[in-house]
Amino acid sequence: MSVSVFDLFKIGIGPSSSHTVGPMIAARQFACHLQAGAGLAAVHAITVELFGSLSATGVGHGTDKAVLLGLAGHEPDRIDPDQIEPAIAAIRASRTLCLLGERTVPFVEKDHLLFRRKSLPLHPNGLSFHAFDALGAEITQRDYYSVGGGFVIDAAGERVLNQAASAQADSAGHAQGLPHPFRTGAELLAQCQATGLSPAQVMASNEEHWRSAAEVRRQLMAIWRTMAGAVQRGCASTGHLPGPLQVRRRAAELHRNLKAQPEAALRDPLSMLDWVNLYAMAVNEENAAGGRVVTAPTNGAAGVIPAVLHYYVNFLPGADDDGIATFLLTAGAIGIIYKENASLSGAEVGCQGEVGVACSMAAGALAAVMGGTPEQIENAAEIGMEHNLGMTCDPVGGLVQIPCIERNAMGAIKAINAARMALRGDGQHVVSLDKVIKTMMQTGADMKVKYKETSRGGLAVNVVEC
Ligand code: SF4
Repeated sequence: MSVSVFDLFKIGIGPSSSHTVGPMIAARQFACHLQAGAGLAAVHAITVELFGSLSATGVGHGTDKAVLLGLAGHEPDRIDPDQIEPAIAAIRASRTLCLLGERTVPFVEKDHLLFRRKSLPLHPNGLSFHAFDALGAEITQRDYYSVGGGFVIDAAGERVLNQAASAQADSAGHAQGLPHPFRTGAELLAQCQATGLSPAQVMASNEEHWRSAAEVRRQLMAIWRTMAGAVQRGCASTGHLPGPLQVRRRAAELHRNLKAQPEAALRDPLSMLDWVNLYAMAVNEENAAGGRVVTAPTNGAAGVIPAVLHYYVNFLPGADDDGIATFLLTAGAIGIIYKENASLSGAEVGCQGEVGVACSMAAGALAAVMGGTPEQIENAAEIGMEHNLGMTCDPVGGLVQIPCIERNAMGAIKAINAARMALRGDGQHVVSLDKVIKTMMQTGADMKVKYKETSRGGLAVNVVEC
């Protein structure tokens, strides 16, 4: 196991981890490759090809802008979301792009950013970058794949890291010598049984292989604060989301209504559902608007885990920072099993791999902070996926809005129910987490391409765009 909880929870920008965050990292990596190789001074033109799902829904997901920003040297965890539109407007107005802020080359999107319907061999989300010299001869060419959740690999299948993650990996020896390695649910349970540790403690121990306990805690709290910030901004932002659908932002109005509701309404035992819906919708509206969110484990599914974590903080007695850390570490442990054995990419396995995985992670994490045993936690995570099997990805207009925003609310509620169901049992169950993950992957492989983030099937073709 070489994936850290901070690989799964990454502070970034919306609207998509695979179509925005990943391509930005890939584009910046290509510019750095040029800088380290022939040197930026030798470069007189760049072309970028987007393949498969990146071509089909890339514009709606902001891939075009992400590529320009990455070539210019920006990183998803550092760029100020408010600076994105001015930076893009400047590139478009000048018809030039400044590579890593050092070398200006002509860049006209219709000539230099090319959309290809076919896919590259390794994954549906492929990008190909080309650099040319003054005579128009190709200096170098590189392919990258944005494989979901902001993870990027090159043509050799090697992982490409952004600057911050790269520095961490270099200083820490990323994959070597973890005290409690695990790749599967069974291995995680075996680690817990052998050591008496909880899944969160297993994760914490592994994380401390890479960084100090204080640093693990600091970064976990930074993740939590960013999630809470996304909820707050979502609850305060009105108007319409970007794009031709003109989807109205609803979280702010719902927030006002919930705060103003009469005392009697609070006696409705299900009124907490309204709040969980609110938290998820607020985050996903913020994501759809290109704002600051935590990839968890993807941007399309960025609302599920914050919503369930807010439920823990705001509705369960005794919630505290230790519980928040336990929640995030447990969710991370479950997410790693999906990353190692299946996929976090809607373009590869449909929305099972996004909202489905987030639901599973949140279910296990909530079971943990509600006192569940490792077996109950594994059971909750399994239930969270079992009832998302087969879920397609068919974003209307290629935008991460419909069905994505409401789908996160549904995923959060489902996660809460999965945790409660597991906690009412003894952890013994027929379908293991590993079996349901295997089933998810097989179901995704059998799913028609039109239901995998291409906007060529499902809701995407049955809803007329305005
Ligand atoms: S439908 Fe699901 S997988 Fe597809 S873009 Fe929306 S959230 Fe992501």
